[in-house]
Amino acid sequence: MPTPRLQGKAGLISGGARGLGAATARLFAKEGAAVAIGDILEQEGRKLAAEITEMGGDAFFVRLDVTSEEDWAHAVQAVVSRSGKLDMLVNNAGIYQRATVEETDSEGWDRVMEVNAKGAFLGTKAAIPAMRKAGGGSVVNISSTSGLLGTAISTAYPASKGAVRLLTKSTAIQYAKEGIRANSVHPAGITTDMLPEVLTTPEQRQERLASMPLGRFATPEEIAYGVLFLASDESSFITGSELVIDGGKTAE
Ligand code: NAD
Repeated sequence: MPTPRLQGKAGLISGGARGLGAATARLFAKEGAAVAIGDILEQEGRKLAAEITEMGGDAFFVRLDVTSEEDWAHAVQAVVSRSGKLDMLVNNAGIYQRATVEETDSEGWDRVMEVNAKGAFLGTKAAIPAMRKAGGGSVVNISSTSGLLGTAISTAYPASKGAVRLLTKSTAIQYAKEGIRANSVHPAGITTDMLPEVLTTPEQRQERLASMPLGRFATPEEIAYGVLFLASDESSFITGSELVIDGGKTAE
């Protein structure tokens, strides 16, 4: 029997109640980690934690609004109280806004930046002291291909995901000497609740599929495997890097 890939590790996943975060929580638990599911969706988060526990995994739900510094402090403390340490943080929570520059109002811009960019910053800031105490750790930030390239249909979202990309590199440089790594993941077209917000009509869906060399969307699990690799010690020499998981979309 191979040793589970995250045996003995403790992790916190923001936005872990559904979509990519939920797939990551299931996979982390399957690979032996103690998993904290942090989300504003309490019912879904508690249900998922119960499901993982029933399957023999180690998971619990903690209410976490990523825009709140207090919530982050509480969530990190909850992991440390339960597992004695924090090894892995996945900054996954995110929201989308489909709007051009002129369609984007000031409040919408602020909200997207607050959840996607500031949320990842606050999470990283809260996790670093606990990871330092643990002797190191891994931060995995979920950006997007929209954090690499501009898009015709959205403004605040790619700006926020670009911010996450460089937050990751600054974190990597600042904490490398302490054994804390940080990497970003850049997915495209995952079949979650977010996808219909991005592609609102069948025509838009078809157009997007045509732009993806693999000719299909990704399952959340196909992205979660990349997150698992970056969170685990298998990627011990990788920091400040970008893992693109996009069916070939940005290769052309
Ligand atoms: P989703 O909408 O299914 O999940 C997002 C999760 O984040 C939800 O559980 C939601 O409750 C949570 N969340 C939102 N605001 C929050 C807040 N303030 N505090 C705590 N949690 C909050 O979408 P998803 O596709 O699973 O998205 C996961 C990540 O993947 C996001 O960062 C998203 O930008 C990124 N991403 C998604 C796609 C895609 O095609 N779906 C592509 C590229 C990147």
